[in-house]
Amino acid sequence: MAQHFIVIGAGIVGISTALYLQRDGHRVTVIDERGPGEGTSKGNASVLAIESCIPVATPGVAWDVPGYLSDPMGPLAIRWSYLPKIAPWLLRFVAASKPERVEEISIALRSLMVHALGAHKSLAKEAGEPEILRETGWLAIFETDKKFQSYQWDLEIQKRRGVPFQVLPAEEIRQFEPSLQPIIRHAVYYPENAYAANNYRLVTLLAADFARRGGTILKEKVTGFQIGANGPTHVVTVSGRHAADAVVVAGGAWSKGLTQQLGHKVPLDTERGYHVTLPKAGRMPRMPLYSGDHSFAITPLEIGLRLAGTVELGGLEAAPDYRRAEILMKHGRRLFGNLDETGRSDWMGFRPSMPDSLPVISRGVRWPNTYFAFGHGHIGLTLGPLSGRLIADLAVGRDPGLDMRPFRIDRF
Ligand SMILES: Cc1cc2nc3c(=O)[nH]c(=O)nc-3n(C[C@H](O)[C@H](O)[C@H](O)COP(=O)(O)OP(=O)(O)OC[C@H]3O[C@@H](n4cnc5c(N)ncnc54)[C@H](O)[C@@H]3O)c2cc1C
Repeated sequence: MAQHFIVIGAGIVGISTALYLQRDGHRVTVIDERGPGEGTSKGNASVLAIESCIPVATPGVAWDVPGYLSDPMGPLAIRWSYLPKIAPWLLRFVAASKPERVEEISIALRSLMVHALGAHKSLAKEAGEPEILRETGWLAIFETDKKFQSYQWDLEIQKRRGVPFQVLPAEEIRQFEPSLQPIIRHAVYYPENAYAANNYRLVTLLAADFARRGGTILKEKVTGFQIGANGPTHVVTVSGRHAADAVVVAGGAWSKGLTQQLGHKVPLDTERGYHVTLPKAGRMPRMPLYSGDHSFAITPLEIGLRLAGTVELGGLEAAPDYRRAEILMKHGRRLFGNLDETGRSDWMGFRPSMPDSLPVISRGVRWPNTYFAFGHGHIGLTLGPLSGRLIADLAVGRDPGLDMRPFRIDRF
């Protein structure tokens, strides 16, 4: 039966969810305090990381962290004043790093990834611009033998999950990706991966398609809900209240408080990340790259070269520390030689992160007319459209085609 859904959040997850609900004939309103794609979806690395089936917490992570933190050029930083707040999340994070949990999590992630590109292509095609997605694959590169040695563990898991990849012979790396300096000792090509030519424009393109098909987008801040005998009846915003038959929380890193108001406590926190975009870099790889040594991505966007990554544990309130972006820039200069910084822009965004690296894609248990799609961490652009498809499946009781239990709201 067609219903009126209110989706909170106009990032890649919320807009995709709105489009898939709309396809089922529902009336859909999206509410966001900002414009579509203005949250974390605005500045990510734009990679459809289909190969990604390894959680952030891996065995031994608790021992590795001090080393990362003591390296000023390293991929991880923490705001020490935030440590007491994030401590419970960190305990769950370490618990998720046990070998048997990592195996289960990787199976769950792969079960999503095999459907992720199909959902993206379907939405981009319907929006009239399938070519915004570029199916180039991506290349993981290693400057040191040591990192490549430890990456063998990742490759073993990927092999077990059936991820296709090809380890390139050292002498072919420069030929394969001529933009790089001759400092790369090892490289692994992942043919399944793709990227969006411009991740932000992708969200605005999909949002425009949603509106063109009769969807409504309101720019208001949601503060809570009016709850009736059978669940929420209205979404309350700073400007008023809006009646709804069903509600989807897709508020990215800001979903925790709203979710609690709907009866579920979730261990959602944020891994803040940074980017540098260089419109006139002068060097463009022919596909996205992943620095295995320093855990960041390099993407040839239509608006320039983007270097994006790093993790900073510091919550939603602290001001950005753009020295983190400068670290990316330093690595970029080493990999490419000279990079023209004319028009450079730096950015920080809030990854919505669950400690087990699995998103929440779930119907509510407290109220059956509530749905939750958040917590996509490092892979929200990749999984946004699929998450929308799965929420629409749950809403009409259609078989989603995969085991949804690992993504339940009440799994903790
Ligand atoms: C540096 C960096 C690089 C990344 N690279 C990649 C990548 O290459 N590939 C990949 O797959 N993922 C990547 N990610 C992760 C990805 O960007 C996120 O997982 C994804 O954007 C999350 O999308 P979302 O729709 O859940 O959240 P958002 O895009 O943040 O959208 C949530 C929206 O909800 C709104 N909202 C929240 N609360 C309220 C409220 N109370 N009232 C009104 N509106 C509200 C916000 O304004 C926001 O617009 C990266 C992230 C970072 C930081």
